[in-house]
Amino acid sequence: MINTLKRIVDEMTRQPVLEKALARVAHLTKDAMKTECCSIYLADEENKHYLLMATDGLSPAAVGSVAIGFNEGLVGLVGQKEEPVNVANAHAHPRFLVTPQVLEDGYNSFLGAPIIHQRQVVGVISVQHSRHEVFDENQVAFLVTLATQLGSAVAHAEAREALNRTESPELKKRARAMRGVAGSTGIALGTAFAIQPHITFSSIVPRRTRNVGREIVRFKQAVKKTQIELKELSVKMTTILPSDTSAIFDVYHHMLNDDLLGDRVQQQIHNGWSCATSLKIVIEELCAELGQMEDSYIRERITDIRDIGQRVLTNLVKKEMQKRPMPDDLVLVAEEVTASMLAEIPREKLRGICSMRGSNNSHAAILARALGIPAVMGLEDLPMNNIDGRSTILDGYSGLVYFNPDPVVIKEYRQLLMEEQELEDLVKTVADEAARTKDGEPLSLSINTGLAADFEVVRGIHADGVGLYRTEIPFMMRSCFPSEQEQYDLYAKALDAYPGKSVLMRTLDVGGDKPLPYFPIEEDNPFLGWRGIRMTLDHPEILLVQVRAMLRANIGRGNLKILLPMITSVQEVADCMRLIQQAHHELEEELKCDVPWPPIGAMLEVPAAIYQIGLLSQMVDFFSVGSNDLTQYLLAVDRNNPKVASLYDCYHPGVLEALGFIAQQCKRFKVPVSVCGEMAGEPIGLLLLVAMGYRSFSMSAQNLLKAKWVLKSVTLDEVEYLKNQIRELACPEQIKKMVTQKLEDLGMGGFIRAGK
Ligand code: PEP
Ligand code: MG
Repeated sequence: MINTLKRIVDEMTRQPVLEKALARVAHLTKDAMKTECCSIYLADEENKHYLLMATDGLSPAAVGSVAIGFNEGLVGLVGQKEEPVNVANAHAHPRFLVTPQVLEDGYNSFLGAPIIHQRQVVGVISVQHSRHEVFDENQVAFLVTLATQLGSAVAHAEAREALNRTESPELKKRARAMRGVAGSTGIALGTAFAIQPHITFSSIVPRRTRNVGREIVRFKQAVKKTQIELKELSVKMTTILPSDTSAIFDVYHHMLNDDLLGDRVQQQIHNGWSCATSLKIVIEELCAELGQMEDSYIRERITDIRDIGQRVLTNLVKKEMQKRPMPDDLVLVAEEVTASMLAEIPREKLRGICSMRGSNNSHAAILARALGIPAVMGLEDLPMNNIDGRSTILDGYSGLVYFNPDPVVIKEYRQLLMEEQELEDLVKTVADEAARTKDGEPLSLSINTGLAADFEVVRGIHADGVGLYRTEIPFMMRSCFPSEQEQYDLYAKALDAYPGKSVLMRTLDVGGDKPLPYFPIEEDNPFLGWRGIRMTLDHPEILLVQVRAMLRANIGRGNLKILLPMITSVQEVADCMRLIQQAHHELEEELKCDVPWPPIGAMLEVPAAIYQIGLLSQMVDFFSVGSNDLTQYLLAVDRNNPKVASLYDCYHPGVLEALGFIAQQCKRFKVPVSVCGEMAGEPIGLLLLVAMGYRSFSMSAQNLLKAKWVLKSVTLDEVEYLKNQIRELACPEQIKKMVTQKLEDLGMGGFIRAGK
């Protein structure tokens, strides 16, 4: 059953044209379920009906013309109930809708299952039979399982289609926005620049070409490159593999020869298809032909054909990507945005970031916020290879992205961009003031950093130092661990940027969604795994070098504080202290001078740690609350997973309760505490944290001015009143609404523009 299901779903992603893909699925499903008819309807939200898109069993003429209202017929009933409907005699059912065009008189039983994607019914798949019997349990289970898998395949295919449609000017106005997760606020208007680490045939959207000659040259170059690579590989492999195994490379060479692949691809190019599309068509055809063969050895060659095709395709696309110039208004589109990718793009060109993976508190989103670049994350259905060069609007407030938007949408967003600019000009007026509330309560605002670029952003703005230096960011941009001297140079620069003010350097916090390219960690649950201090305690050589570099950089400067990430137990702190003492002692011996001993603090981000504040406070000098991880661990919601993004919410009453508890405990045990998670830089979060008693915050440089403005607009009494008001509220939405109302009353509604 699993294989049949997989084959059907694969067909859906493989076929370039949606209608054809659905027709194949209907045909294969009918066969697999040994029934007489299978049909697929897709929801048309605008017209509120299901359109018959494919059928094997009803009249082919009805495809594309028969539409069943959301509240009509058995198909509509499946959509309304969001569950399967299984009836023995459809004609006798009160919801049966007579649709003469489909010619279904001969069928009696009906089974329909909803196709759902992200909580929305996107279609219905049905099977019918002439017998007067309900479908059996196994058949229901099969159809329901298939429908669940079709959900994202349909959404993916529709997204591809939507993009294709926008190529025709008269249909441009139907261009739909794609929804992801808001990652970094702001609006970007620009040109999509797609970086594809790995392109697959399923993501190729068919394209026509007029330049046959150029496409043939491109194909030949890619084949040549592939041949060279294979030769190199084959030489390498002969030393490792037995000769009969490495003979596979001869087979590959043969496959690349003109008569098997080359001629057929060139024929497709002459038919008007682009090079990549032609290759896709030929590979699919070859696999289908081989799949029909009796001989199992020949059938096995399908894998080889796919592999060889994939290699040629990669070379084809890689070449294209390398020689492209970057647009001046670049919106970066990538499967997964990394720090090194961002480092390669000149800051003045980068307008927005669009990532297929990740969510609102992934580290890529945090980097985007640090740079002040609007970002949308988790656009899982994005057809990557059809995006490049398109005019793009990215809305980092609502998580919407428009490709090839129509002029009305562009005009609307230009207006919003202007309003944003006005807001920025307004908050700049408080740049050199120290932070305090309207009634004069002083507050400390520091910056979160890790990129040298952050220091640029902050120049000319009064900040109280660095509240979180994410040292892993420079580590992530390299190809091996930096030496002690390299780290020393980096840390000295950071300490020099804030003379006389504290710079909290966090020891390496890799793992989770922050892998080092040269230190791969493979785990099933990375956020619950070998992260932060757990990894560095297991590798004291890494921690010792880092601490030595920090301590050395602090000589003659004296503004270093060391922060320990992911602390879960008292023992971990004790082990860290021992290692820091060792590094300190070694340095004093080597340098023959006094090395200042810095204040050492622990992050409070693992729930267990907040119940040990009493004990921990005897060992450390300060705490810093990592509300990003604390939220993830308290709510059991992966901060990097867009599927649960709507559940990740630091305004959940449970999280707020924990934050209030931390503030009380730190006061009780007289340990300084600050908040360096993202909520400290959000107007809503800031007001609530002040109300809980926090007075020290660290945030991205971009949020600092807005934060100052918000604070100087409220009094402590007002935030206290707000805290009492939200006490009884049970859900995050109500809490956010109430604080937003307060901000609007104070004239700061524009600071938290609601999603469109
Ligand atoms: C946090 O978890 O809140 C935090 C500041 O650290 P990071 O986001 O780097 O995990
Ligand atoms: Mg953290």
